[in-house]
Amino acid sequence: MDKKDWTIIGAGPAGIAALGNLLDQGIEPSKIAWIDPEFKAGDFGTLWRNVPSNTKAKLFLAFLHACRSFHFKDHQTQFALAKADPEKSCALHLMAEPLQFLTDEFKKTVHTIQDKAEHLVLKNRLWNIQLKNKTIESKNVILAIGAEAKKFSYPLPQDIPLHDAMDSEGIKKHLNSNDKIAVFGSSHSAILVLKNLLEHSVKEVINFYRSPLLYAIYLKDSILFDDTGLKGPTAEWARDHLHGNLPNNLKRIYSNKENIEQHLPECTKAIYAVGFERRQTPIVEGIGHLSYQENTGIIAPGLFGLGIAFPEAKQNQLGMTEYRVGLWKFMEYLQRILPIWLNYAP
Ligand SMILES: Cc1cc2nc3c(=O)[nH]c(=O)nc-3n(C[C@H](O)[C@H](O)[C@H](O)COP(=O)(O)OP(=O)(O)OC[C@H]3O[C@@H](n4cnc5c(N)ncnc54)[C@H](O)[C@@H]3O)c2cc1C
Repeated sequence: MDKKDWTIIGAGPAGIAALGNLLDQGIEPSKIAWIDPEFKAGDFGTLWRNVPSNTKAKLFLAFLHACRSFHFKDHQTQFALAKADPEKSCALHLMAEPLQFLTDEFKKTVHTIQDKAEHLVLKNRLWNIQLKNKTIESKNVILAIGAEAKKFSYPLPQDIPLHDAMDSEGIKKHLNSNDKIAVFGSSHSAILVLKNLLEHSVKEVINFYRSPLLYAIYLKDSILFDDTGLKGPTAEWARDHLHGNLPNNLKRIYSNKENIEQHLPECTKAIYAVGFERRQTPIVEGIGHLSYQENTGIIAPGLFGLGIAFPEAKQNQLGMTEYRVGLWKFMEYLQRILPIWLNYAP
């Protein structure tokens, strides 16, 4: 059975950040295992490539320069991201390209296993990680398993996958001119979907919303509602189209049971954009319900969580708790908490 000091489960941006920081701490590549079914930079590098970023390009660059082991300075000129306006948003594939490059470079030195971790259990002070095809043992494990779009509890008409709906080109293949489309949600993803739909010729869109629109507010030293508010071109579009001057083919209806039951049957297709939830595998045995400390990422001794599945909870300047999701936030948080993880083996 393979024995490792550290195993990282997931090769999205969070898994890449975890690997880069362990290497920067002097952990030998041969003592690290890295597991992912694809090694394509996670959902970020696959599902969301054509989505416009909700962060400025400079934060992606900050992520890439944050780890010595990325050696990004030596390679930056080959990527379009290096030429993008650092103060503007960009398509996510601009960041997915260097992430894929780093992954391919790390595959040359770190023990990568193209598989899915299914089950974890602590035995003799080592985590046993059961994959589809083998088991490995590891002193420490980092779960960077990502999140998936929440599913819907009403019987929907034909649904359009969120990753296509958020891509202004990808959505086209799902549309015809007689469609009446339901869109659930009112956060950044839902508003981007509305923008994409209304820029194409659909007959009608019904937006089932639960709460008023919320915008990020740029203050001198910080961004209020940074993790929850609308930003960039999506925010501009919302101000122009949703503030009491709706396009003729858009209706916004409060999302309760009665309204859904009345209006959803009229729709030919639906898009569910109401947020994301942590992936459910691997199953971790012996810890009860899988939860984590929201300020350290600790799940159990030697077991840690990072990325969109286990975001840091932080109070903003008004005392409101926000969950910090974004590549630069994962990096900055990890660099603060890694010294704790390095001293918390089982
Ligand atoms: C639509 C959208 C747009 C976003 N835009 C931005 C943005 O502009 N800027 C920004 O900074 N952030 C953005 N984010 C937030 C965040 O940076 C991304 O969600 C990012 O993909 C999260 O990285 P991750 O590594 O946590 O998860 P993921 O990218 O989902 O990667 C998780 C990886 O773990 C693997 N995995 C899962 N389970 C297992 C298992 N059991 N065994 C082995 N492997 C497993 C998956 O296959 C996947 O490869 C966006 C998020 C979304 C949803």
